[in-house]
Amino acid sequence: MASPASIQHWDVDTELLIAGYGLAGACAAIEAHDLAPDARVLIVEKAPEAHAGGNSRVAGQSLLISHNAEALKHYQRAMSRSNPLPEDLLDWWSTEMVALEPWIRARAAEAGAQFIQGTGFSERDAVLEFPEFGARDAVAFTATILPIPSGVWLAFDANVARRPRIQRWFESPIVDLVQDPDTLAVLGAIVLREGRRCAVRAHRGVVLATGGFEANLDMQRNYCGYAEAWPLGTPHNTGDGIGLAQRAGASLWHMRNAGQSGGIWPGIKVPEFDTAFLRTFFWQSFSWLEIAADNQRFYNETAELQLTHYKEKLYGHWVDTPHHRAGPVHMLFDELTRRHNRLITTVMSWNPVVLNYEWSEDNQVEIERGWILRADSIEALAELMERDPVAVAHSVSEYNQACASGEDRRFGRRPDTLMPLAEPPYYAVRMAPAIVCTSGGARRNQYSQVLDQALRPIPGLYEAGELGSMISDLYQNGSYLTEAMISGRAAARHALR
Ligand SMILES: Cc1cc2nc3c(=O)[nH]c(=O)nc-3n(C[C@H](O)[C@H](O)[C@H](O)COP(=O)(O)OP(=O)(O)OC[C@H]3O[C@@H](n4cnc5c(N)ncnc54)[C@H](O)[C@@H]3O)c2cc1C
Repeated sequence: MASPASIQHWDVDTELLIAGYGLAGACAAIEAHDLAPDARVLIVEKAPEAHAGGNSRVAGQSLLISHNAEALKHYQRAMSRSNPLPEDLLDWWSTEMVALEPWIRARAAEAGAQFIQGTGFSERDAVLEFPEFGARDAVAFTATILPIPSGVWLAFDANVARRPRIQRWFESPIVDLVQDPDTLAVLGAIVLREGRRCAVRAHRGVVLATGGFEANLDMQRNYCGYAEAWPLGTPHNTGDGIGLAQRAGASLWHMRNAGQSGGIWPGIKVPEFDTAFLRTFFWQSFSWLEIAADNQRFYNETAELQLTHYKEKLYGHWVDTPHHRAGPVHMLFDELTRRHNRLITTVMSWNPVVLNYEWSEDNQVEIERGWILRADSIEALAELMERDPVAVAHSVSEYNQACASGEDRRFGRRPDTLMPLAEPPYYAVRMAPAIVCTSGGARRNQYSQVLDQALRPIPGLYEAGELGSMISDLYQNGSYLTEAMISGRAAARHALR
């Protein structure tokens, strides 16, 4: 934390300083611009312009639309049972959410983009994650903005660009806050710009919207206990806002929820890329399985786990599937599955969406690159994986027998997905635990004010989006992006009130 005494002069003056240009930062800026006719707004973003947009840009772009505040409040409360949320925050969430749809439609219209019902890449018009907690009444439908990918982000980015009093600096990370040591009031921040420390005076407040800590393995290990976890989104989300909030005296929350709220997904991590590819969840054939460190299958691979953010029910609780503790995990498949399925999804995640990596439709290029192993027999494939050939062959043969009998006694895989690994050559690819989001950060209230250790607001300091998200355990699809919208707007409203 820098004290005002350490600032010889302010390099720049603004009303609102927003750190991080994802959806939360964009929405805070749009709201501030539209509310206060003279307010200058400065967004500082760590990534270069071509790589800005954070996880918001590479998300599945699903938006939760609710028309029933009471039902949504009940649903959110039930999903947060393991770590209850303050009632005033639940009230805020549910009332803001039922008022949100027209505002999103207006942003899409302003950008000349189409708001649609559904995810845009599947047949479903609503993803209902935890029906027993009341999803049916809480979720009116899932919505998105076209095009796929990145449609929601592109529309909001266009909205920001249309507003002349919003200035954006790229390759300009926030590195410190300027805070009065007596009152704790945040007066501005230090931003690294073109190699120098730039003191920015923010008269109405600083909004931290720097996203999660998915790309910070040290934090993943210390806060979440994962030995290994790879981001599916931006490599720039390294939890910077957490350190800044801590230095300003914030109380932290949701650093490690009962489960990984966004789920631990089967990803593919290769040395040439910093982030993981996301395995597809739409299959044309099912001649594939996964094995854990002990060379055995360990879960129901073809359950539609993307619909519950990779949670399965155990002892009556929704818990993460075990990819993060079963490793090393390999997926094994045969020639039929190789031919008919591109292994990764292209509609979301960093590598295909931002870096434009075009994974070949039949996976041939990736086999040639050595990312996927190939052999003529399961035993030879096991040697390539550095596993016990007898044990691996036994697991495959046990699975093939289950296919022949039409019943998977061990994990209850659906009969129509019991397809044997029968057509050589055979393939293997290592599955890496991959995550879409973290929700830890500073504790905040319904005005997005950051709270100190005594739960008092720190004057002039706000936080929005995934950093310090209200999600305290289970997560309903489409809530992160909409929370980014309403928490960003709330911060701007309060700061400029
Ligand atoms: C593959 C994937 C699929 C997802 N699908 C969905 C979905 O369908 N629906 C949904 O609701 N949610 C989804 N999510 C989650 C959702 O994308 C995020 O929770 C949401 O985008 C967070 O928005 P944000 O603005 O808080 O952060 P981000 O959009 O991540 O933006 C944070 C920004 O801060 C910048 N930054 C970091 N540090 C600094 C610093 N020191 N100074 C300045 N800038 C900094 C980063 O570069 C980044 O641009 C998905 C996420 C992923 C990765």
